[in-house]
Amino acid sequence: MRRITVIGSINMDIVTHVPRLPLPGETLKGLKTAYNPGGKGANQAIAAFLAGGSVTMIGAVGEDEIGQKLLVNFQSMGLDTSNILTKKDQSGIAFITVDLSGENQIVLSEGSNAKLFKQDLLKLSEVIKTSHTILLQNEIPWETTRYLIELAHSVGIRVVLNPAPAIAMEENILRHIDVLILNETEAETITDFKVLDEPTARKAAEKLLDSGVREVIITLGEKGSLYLDQNGEYIFTSAYCVEAVDTTAAGDTFIGVFTVTSAMNLPKQDCLRFASAAAAISVTRNGAQGSIPHREEIELFLK
Ligand code: ADP
Repeated sequence: MRRITVIGSINMDIVTHVPRLPLPGETLKGLKTAYNPGGKGANQAIAAFLAGGSVTMIGAVGEDEIGQKLLVNFQSMGLDTSNILTKKDQSGIAFITVDLSGENQIVLSEGSNAKLFKQDLLKLSEVIKTSHTILLQNEIPWETTRYLIELAHSVGIRVVLNPAPAIAMEENILRHIDVLILNETEAETITDFKVLDEPTARKAAEKLLDSGVREVIITLGEKGSLYLDQNGEYIFTSAYCVEAVDTTAAGDTFIGVFTVTSAMNLPKQDCLRFASAAAAISVTRNGAQGSIPHREEIELFLK
Protein backbone atom coordinates (compact mmCIF):
# COMPACT_ATOMS: atom_id res chain seq x y z
CA MET A 1 0.00 0.00 0.00
CA ARG A 2 1.19 3.56 -0.72
CA ARG A 3 2.49 4.81 2.62
CA ILE A 4 1.77 8.33 3.86
CA THR A 5 4.15 10.00 6.30
CA VAL A 6 2.66 12.80 8.36
CA ILE A 7 5.26 15.11 9.89
CA GLY A 8 3.52 17.53 12.21
CA SER A 9 2.13 18.62 15.52
CA ILE A 10 0.92 16.51 18.42
CA ASN A 11 -1.06 18.34 21.12
CA MET A 12 -3.37 17.83 24.02
CA ASP A 13 -6.56 19.83 23.40
CA ILE A 14 -8.07 21.14 26.61
CA VAL A 15 -11.61 21.87 25.51
CA THR A 16 -14.10 23.92 27.49
CA HIS A 17 -17.69 24.26 26.35
CA VAL A 18 -19.09 27.76 26.84
CA PRO A 19 -22.56 29.31 26.34
CA ARG A 20 -20.89 31.82 23.97
CA LEU A 21 -17.30 32.80 23.09
CA PRO A 22 -15.77 35.22 25.64
CA LEU A 23 -15.07 38.89 24.82
CA PRO A 24 -11.56 40.31 25.37
CA GLY A 25 -10.94 40.70 29.10
CA GLU A 26 -14.10 38.84 30.05
CA THR A 27 -14.26 35.92 32.51
CA LEU A 28 -16.91 33.45 31.48
CA LYS A 29 -18.09 30.31 33.28
CA GLY A 30 -17.42 27.17 31.27
CA LEU A 31 -19.96 24.35 31.13
CA LYS A 32 -17.50 21.42 31.14
CA THR A 33 -13.86 20.68 30.25
CA ALA A 34 -12.34 17.67 28.45
CA TYR A 35 -8.75 16.59 27.65
CA ASN A 36 -8.68 15.40 24.06
CA PRO A 37 -5.55 14.40 22.11
CA GLY A 38 -5.23 16.69 19.09
CA GLY A 39 -2.79 18.73 16.98
CA LYS A 40 -3.26 19.11 13.24
CA GLY A 41 -0.51 16.58 12.43
CA ALA A 42 -1.84 13.94 14.79
CA ASN A 43 -5.47 14.53 13.78
CA GLN A 44 -4.68 14.25 10.07
CA ALA A 45 -2.56 11.12 10.65
CA ILE A 46 -5.39 9.47 12.56
CA ALA A 47 -8.00 10.51 9.96
CA ALA A 48 -5.81 9.00 7.22
CA PHE A 49 -5.18 5.84 9.25
CA LEU A 50 -8.83 5.29 10.17
CA ALA A 51 -9.79 5.79 6.53
CA GLY A 52 -7.65 2.77 5.69
CA GLY A 53 -4.28 4.35 4.93
CA SER A 54 -0.81 3.03 5.70
CA VAL A 55 0.41 5.90 7.88
CA THR A 56 3.67 6.83 9.64
CA MET A 57 3.54 9.65 12.19
CA ILE A 58 6.64 11.77 12.84
CA GLY A 59 6.48 14.45 15.53
CA ALA A 60 7.67 15.45 18.99
CA VAL A 61 6.06 15.25 22.41
CA GLY A 62 7.42 16.64 25.67
CA GLU A 63 9.08 14.79 28.53
CA ASP A 64 5.96 15.15 30.68
CA GLU A 65 2.84 13.28 31.66
CA ILE A 66 0.87 14.74 28.78
CA GLY A 67 3.54 13.49 26.35
CA GLN A 68 3.13 9.96 27.69
CA LYS A 69 -0.65 10.20 27.36
CA LEU A 70 -0.29 11.37 23.77
CA LEU A 71 1.92 8.39 22.88
CA VAL A 72 -0.44 5.92 24.56
CA ASN A 73 -3.30 7.49 22.62
CA PHE A 74 -1.61 6.74 19.26
CA GLN A 75 -0.81 3.20 20.39
CA SER A 76 -4.39 2.59 21.50
CA MET A 77 -5.54 3.50 17.99
CA GLY A 78 -3.01 1.10 16.45
CA LEU A 79 -0.54 3.69 15.17
CA ASP A 80 3.20 3.08 15.52
CA THR A 81 4.97 5.64 17.77
CA SER A 82 8.58 4.62 17.07
CA ASN A 83 9.15 7.73 14.91
CA ILE A 84 7.78 10.16 17.49
CA LEU A 85 10.55 11.92 19.42
CA THR A 86 10.44 12.88 23.09
CA LYS A 87 11.96 16.32 23.72
CA LYS A 88 13.19 17.91 26.97
CA ASP A 89 10.28 20.34 26.89
CA GLN A 90 6.57 20.61 27.59
CA SER A 91 4.15 18.89 25.26
CA GLY A 92 2.02 21.01 22.94
CA ILE A 93 -1.30 22.13 24.43
CA ALA A 94 -4.24 23.78 22.66
CA PHE A 95 -6.73 25.64 24.85
CA ILE A 96 -10.03 25.48 23.00
CA THR A 97 -13.42 27.00 23.76
CA VAL A 98 -16.49 25.79 21.87
CA ASP A 99 -19.83 27.61 21.93
CA LEU A 100 -23.32 26.15 21.63
CA SER A 101 -23.33 26.51 17.83
CA GLY A 102 -20.08 24.52 17.52
CA GLU A 103 -17.94 27.60 16.70
CA ASN A 104 -14.52 27.60 18.39
CA GLN A 105 -11.59 29.75 19.54
CA ILE A 106 -8.10 28.29 20.02
CA VAL A 107 -4.91 29.36 21.85
CA LEU A 108 -1.94 27.16 21.04
CA SER A 109 1.06 26.57 23.34
CA GLU A 110 3.45 24.85 20.92
CA GLY A 111 5.90 23.25 23.40
CA SER A 112 7.89 20.39 21.82
CA ASN A 113 6.26 20.92 18.41
CA ALA A 114 8.33 24.09 18.03
CA LYS A 115 11.49 22.02 18.63
CA LEU A 116 11.13 19.59 15.74
CA PHE A 117 14.17 20.55 13.68
CA LYS A 118 15.82 19.38 10.47
CA GLN A 119 18.57 17.64 12.51
CA ASP A 120 15.92 15.48 14.19
CA LEU A 121 14.67 14.36 10.82
CA LEU A 122 18.05 13.39 9.36
CA LYS A 123 17.96 10.09 11.25
CA LEU A 124 14.45 9.47 9.94
CA SER A 125 15.33 10.22 6.33
CA GLU A 126 14.87 6.58 5.24
CA VAL A 127 11.30 6.55 6.60
CA ILE A 128 10.58 9.82 4.82
CA LYS A 129 12.25 8.96 1.51
CA THR A 130 10.43 5.64 1.18
CA SER A 131 6.97 7.26 1.53
CA HIS A 132 4.59 7.75 -1.37
CA THR A 133 3.23 11.01 0.09
CA ILE A 134 4.25 13.37 2.87
CA LEU A 135 1.50 15.33 4.58
CA LEU A 136 2.50 18.58 6.30
CA GLN A 137 0.91 21.46 8.20
CA ASN A 138 2.29 24.68 9.71
CA GLU A 139 2.39 23.71 13.39
CA ILE A 140 6.11 22.79 13.40
CA PRO A 141 8.91 25.26 12.50
CA TRP A 142 8.58 26.54 8.93
CA GLU A 143 12.31 25.85 8.37
CA THR A 144 11.64 22.16 9.01
CA THR A 145 8.59 22.10 6.75
CA ARG A 146 10.48 23.89 3.98
CA TYR A 147 13.34 21.40 4.26
CA LEU A 148 10.85 18.51 4.00
CA ILE A 149 9.12 20.00 0.95
CA GLU A 150 12.46 20.42 -0.83
CA LEU A 151 13.64 16.93 0.17
CA ALA A 152 10.41 15.28 -0.98
CA HIS A 153 10.39 17.20 -4.24
CA SER A 154 14.02 16.23 -4.97
CA VAL A 155 13.24 12.51 -4.67
CA GLY A 156 9.81 12.60 -6.35
CA ILE A 157 7.60 12.14 -3.29
CA ARG A 158 4.12 13.68 -3.43
CA VAL A 159 3.77 16.68 -1.10
CA VAL A 160 0.42 17.60 0.46
CA LEU A 161 0.50 20.80 2.53
CA ASN A 162 -2.18 22.24 4.78
CA PRO A 163 -0.73 25.72 5.44
CA ALA A 164 -2.42 26.16 8.82
CA PRO A 165 -1.91 28.48 10.57
CA ALA A 166 -1.27 30.47 7.40
CA ILE A 167 1.96 32.34 6.76
CA ALA A 168 3.20 34.11 3.65
CA MET A 169 5.04 31.49 1.58
CA GLU A 170 7.85 31.94 -0.91
CA GLU A 171 6.81 31.23 -4.52
CA ASN A 172 9.77 28.92 -5.06
CA ILE A 173 8.36 26.66 -2.33
CA LEU A 174 4.79 26.72 -3.65
CA ARG A 175 6.18 25.32 -6.91
CA HIS A 176 7.20 22.12 -5.10
CA ILE A 177 3.76 21.45 -3.64
CA ASP A 178 1.54 18.86 -5.28
CA VAL A 179 -1.63 19.46 -3.28
CA LEU A 180 -2.38 22.54 -1.16
CA ILE A 181 -5.46 22.18 1.08
CA LEU A 182 -6.59 25.25 3.01
CA ASN A 183 -9.69 26.89 4.42
CA GLU A 184 -11.07 30.30 3.45
CA THR A 185 -9.15 32.25 6.13
CA GLU A 186 -5.85 30.63 5.18
CA ALA A 187 -6.57 31.24 1.49
CA GLU A 188 -7.16 34.93 2.25
CA THR A 189 -3.90 35.28 4.19
CA ILE A 190 -1.82 33.60 1.50
CA THR A 191 -3.40 35.16 -1.60
CA ASP A 192 -4.56 38.53 -0.24
CA PHE A 193 -7.97 37.89 -1.89
CA LYS A 194 -11.15 38.16 0.15
CA VAL A 195 -12.60 34.65 0.14
CA LEU A 196 -16.33 34.61 0.88
CA ASP A 197 -17.93 32.13 -1.48
CA GLU A 198 -17.35 29.82 -4.43
CA PRO A 199 -16.40 32.50 -7.04
CA THR A 200 -13.95 34.29 -4.71
CA ALA A 201 -12.47 30.98 -3.55
CA ARG A 202 -11.97 30.00 -7.18
CA LYS A 203 -10.06 33.24 -7.82
CA ALA A 204 -7.80 32.51 -4.82
CA ALA A 205 -7.26 28.94 -6.06
CA GLU A 206 -6.31 30.27 -9.52
CA LYS A 207 -3.74 32.57 -7.94
CA LEU A 208 -2.21 29.64 -6.05
CA LEU A 209 -2.05 27.57 -9.24
CA ASP A 210 -0.30 30.50 -10.93
CA SER A 211 2.36 30.20 -8.24
CA GLY A 212 3.04 26.65 -9.36
CA VAL A 213 1.00 24.49 -6.96
CA ARG A 214 -0.37 21.50 -8.93
CA GLU A 215 -3.72 20.99 -7.16
CA VAL A 216 -5.59 23.31 -4.78
CA ILE A 217 -8.52 22.55 -2.50
CA ILE A 218 -10.19 25.38 -0.59
CA THR A 219 -12.63 24.28 2.09
CA LEU A 220 -15.55 26.58 2.90
CA GLY A 221 -16.96 25.02 6.08
CA GLU A 222 -20.65 24.17 5.78
CA LYS A 223 -20.67 25.58 2.23
CA GLY A 224 -18.42 22.73 1.04
CA SER A 225 -15.13 22.75 -0.84
CA LEU A 226 -13.67 23.44 -4.24
CA TYR A 227 -10.93 21.67 -6.15
CA LEU A 228 -8.94 23.14 -9.03
CA ASP A 229 -5.82 21.79 -10.73
CA GLN A 230 -3.24 22.77 -13.34
CA ASN A 231 -5.19 20.92 -16.05
CA GLY A 232 -8.23 23.09 -15.41
CA GLU A 233 -10.26 20.34 -13.72
CA TYR A 234 -12.75 22.04 -11.39
CA ILE A 235 -14.93 20.25 -8.84
CA PHE A 236 -17.22 21.92 -6.32
CA THR A 237 -18.40 19.56 -3.57
CA SER A 238 -21.29 20.70 -1.37
CA ALA A 239 -21.04 19.88 2.32
CA TYR A 240 -23.40 17.22 3.63
CA CYS A 241 -26.26 18.62 5.65
CA VAL A 242 -25.76 17.52 9.27
CA GLU A 243 -26.31 18.99 12.72
CA ALA A 244 -22.97 20.52 13.75
CA VAL A 245 -21.95 20.04 17.38
CA ASP A 246 -18.20 20.76 17.26
CA THR A 247 -16.26 21.66 14.11
CA THR A 248 -12.80 21.33 15.75
CA ALA A 249 -11.30 18.64 13.49
CA ALA A 250 -13.45 19.06 10.36
CA GLY A 251 -10.59 20.35 8.22
CA ASP A 252 -8.12 17.78 9.58
CA THR A 253 -10.53 14.93 8.89
CA PHE A 254 -11.14 16.19 5.36
CA ILE A 255 -7.39 16.52 4.69
CA GLY A 256 -6.38 13.14 6.14
CA VAL A 257 -9.10 11.30 4.26
CA PHE A 258 -8.52 13.13 0.97
CA THR A 259 -4.77 12.41 1.20
CA VAL A 260 -5.37 8.66 1.57
CA THR A 261 -8.03 8.28 -1.09
CA SER A 262 -6.10 10.38 -3.60
CA ALA A 263 -2.91 8.36 -2.89
CA MET A 264 -4.97 5.29 -3.84
CA ASN A 265 -5.57 6.98 -7.20
CA LEU A 266 -9.37 6.99 -6.85
CA PRO A 267 -11.22 9.46 -9.11
CA LYS A 268 -10.93 12.99 -7.65
CA GLN A 269 -14.70 13.36 -7.35
CA ASP A 270 -14.87 10.23 -5.18
CA CYS A 271 -11.93 11.37 -3.02
CA LEU A 272 -13.66 14.70 -2.38
CA ARG A 273 -17.02 13.06 -1.65
CA PHE A 274 -15.37 10.64 0.77
CA ALA A 275 -13.44 13.44 2.51
CA SER A 276 -16.57 15.63 2.78
CA ALA A 277 -18.59 12.76 4.24
CA ALA A 278 -15.87 12.02 6.80
CA ALA A 279 -15.68 15.70 7.79
CA ALA A 280 -19.49 15.93 8.02
CA ILE A 281 -19.54 12.96 10.40
CA SER A 282 -16.79 14.56 12.50
CA VAL A 283 -18.75 17.80 13.07
CA THR A 284 -21.67 15.85 14.53
CA ARG A 285 -19.42 14.72 17.41
CA ASN A 286 -17.46 16.47 20.15
CA GLY A 287 -13.67 16.51 20.32
CA ALA A 288 -10.88 16.27 17.78
CA GLN A 289 -9.62 12.72 17.26
CA GLY A 290 -12.59 11.15 19.02
CA SER A 291 -14.83 12.62 16.32
CA ILE A 292 -12.92 11.17 13.35
CA PRO A 293 -14.79 8.29 11.66
CA HIS A 294 -13.54 4.87 10.53
CA ARG A 295 -13.70 3.89 6.87
CA GLU A 296 -16.76 1.68 7.49
CA GLU A 297 -18.68 4.61 9.03
CA ILE A 298 -17.90 6.81 6.03
CA GLU A 299 -19.05 4.09 3.64
CA LEU A 300 -22.26 3.62 5.62
CA PHE A 301 -22.89 7.40 5.62
CA LEU A 302 -22.58 7.48 1.82
CA LYS A 303 -24.96 4.53 1.19
P1 ADP B 1 -11.34 24.03 8.92
O1 ADP B 1 -11.73 23.11 10.03
O2 ADP B 1 -9.92 23.86 8.49
O3 ADP B 1 -11.73 25.46 9.12
P2 ADP B 1 -13.65 23.84 7.20
O4 ADP B 1 -14.46 24.46 8.29
O5 ADP B 1 -13.60 24.55 5.89
O6 ADP B 1 -12.16 23.51 7.66
O7 ADP B 1 -14.24 22.36 6.98
C1 ADP B 1 -13.64 21.40 6.15
C2 ADP B 1 -14.71 20.59 5.48
O8 ADP B 1 -15.50 19.95 6.48
C3 ADP B 1 -15.70 21.39 4.64
O9 ADP B 1 -15.24 21.57 3.31
C4 ADP B 1 -16.93 20.49 4.69
O10 ADP B 1 -16.83 19.44 3.74
C5 ADP B 1 -16.84 19.88 6.09
N1 ADP B 1 -17.65 20.67 7.04
C6 ADP B 1 -17.25 21.68 7.84
N2 ADP B 1 -18.27 22.20 8.56
C7 ADP B 1 -19.36 21.46 8.24
C8 ADP B 1 -20.74 21.48 8.63
N3 ADP B 1 -21.20 22.36 9.51
N4 ADP B 1 -21.57 20.56 8.07
C9 ADP B 1 -21.10 19.64 7.18
N5 ADP B 1 -19.82 19.58 6.76
C10 ADP B 1 -18.96 20.47 7.27
